Amino acid sequence: MDRGKVEIRQEECKGCGLCMEACPPAVLRISESLNSAGYHPAMYVGHGCTGCGICFFVCPEPGAICVFRLAA
Ligand code: SF4
Ligand code: SF4
Repeated sequence: MDRGKVEIRQEECKGCGLCMEACPPAVLRISESLNSAGYHPAMYVGHGCTGCGICFFVCPEPGAICVFRLAA
């Protein structure tokens, strides 16, 4: 069972890829679709997040990433 869950607000994301590069289990991807500002936003592949919070700390866009730690 996953220990965490990540939500990315696609309209806040600038598609820089820092979160994707920093995620230890590599569960983030850059979407093929565009947001309204013309960026390819990051997205969660849907499973495997550990809730470590690294993506949250590396993201330069306030409010783009929320990380939840799930109860065991
Ligand atoms: S919280 Fe950690 S494991 Fe989950 S998406 Fe972010 S960097 Fe990856
Ligand atoms: S680090 Fe933040 S702005 Fe950059 S791709 Fe990830 S969510 Fe988007």
